[in-house]
Amino acid sequence: MKYQELIDDYYKRFVVRTDAYYLQTPEGKYNARYEVITPDHLAKHLAGEITIAFPAVDKKGLCKWICYDDDNCLPESESGVLELIEELLCSAGYSCVREGRRQIVDKFKQGHLWIMLKEPIEAKLARAWTKWVLKQIGLPERVTKLDIFPRQAEPGLLSNPVRGPLGKHAKANGERGWFRDAPPNVESQLEWLASQPLNDTAHMARSAANYLITIDARSKYRDNFTKPRQGGKSAPSILEMMDALNWPYRPERDRFVSQCPVCALEGHDKSLDNLHISTDDTWYGCWYQGWNVTHTYKAIYSAFRSLRCT
Ligand SMILES: [Zn+2]
Repeated sequence: MKYQELIDDYYKRFVVRTDAYYLQTPEGKYNARYEVITPDHLAKHLAGEITIAFPAVDKKGLCKWICYDDDNCLPESESGVLELIEELLCSAGYSCVREGRRQIVDKFKQGHLWIMLKEPIEAKLARAWTKWVLKQIGLPERVTKLDIFPRQAEPGLLSNPVRGPLGKHAKANGERGWFRDAPPNVESQLEWLASQPLNDTAHMARSAANYLITIDARSKYRDNFTKPRQGGKSAPSILEMMDALNWPYRPERDRFVSQCPVCALEGHDKSLDNLHISTDDTWYGCWYQGWNVTHTYKAIYSAFRSLRCT
């Protein structure tokens, strides 16, 4: 393939939103740029002149790749979550590519595992599928330092991005994120990438369908909870209740985390992070063994209330 064709192939695989992208700053942050992204931008990215990150979801709520991003640092010989996911997916006939693993002192930051799709699918479905995958391996839906893209299930302003493969990374002293299975030079990497098959989305949709039902059921739980109670009173504030009990919680990304009181009574959640509460105090839930169906918001609320009474 000619070099320009390789750039076009890269564009087709990774550019989800054509009207916006993120540009990496020298400090390694990402600034949104609301302008059309062209193959010329990608040529500069691949030449190392700029570093682009791609939003995962377009304005209609569609995505065309899924990326597991593992920020854990492990010794060279130790395999992490991405190996488990890759093993499962390969045995189930999926094609995935590993990229961006890099050494930090004597350990290795795990990098990205990409699953690229034949045609765009709803981000909501993609997210359900990623959770189904974790469940197949016996992992909880939230794994420490594992980010999953798309992070948004709905169309929005601009979704969270992932740095484009082969781009220079400011936080890695300007080194590139290479694909594991090809020689580390840009042209060989692009040739290899162009030979990687895209994944059949019908297969994914079937796997995710049941999981999506569970997720929809959860959001109904939340809707239930956020409705004002009879008489116009708003829903009880779990954070106020926790403050009154001096029950510690801490901010983590877009939420607060704490020990689930039901878990505490049952003698687990020693890491004190099963209970997740939205910062606006409108929903909460326990992530014990995935989203636990017995540790419902009512059970959690009752547990706090009984602690308050004792
Ligand atoms: Zn719990």
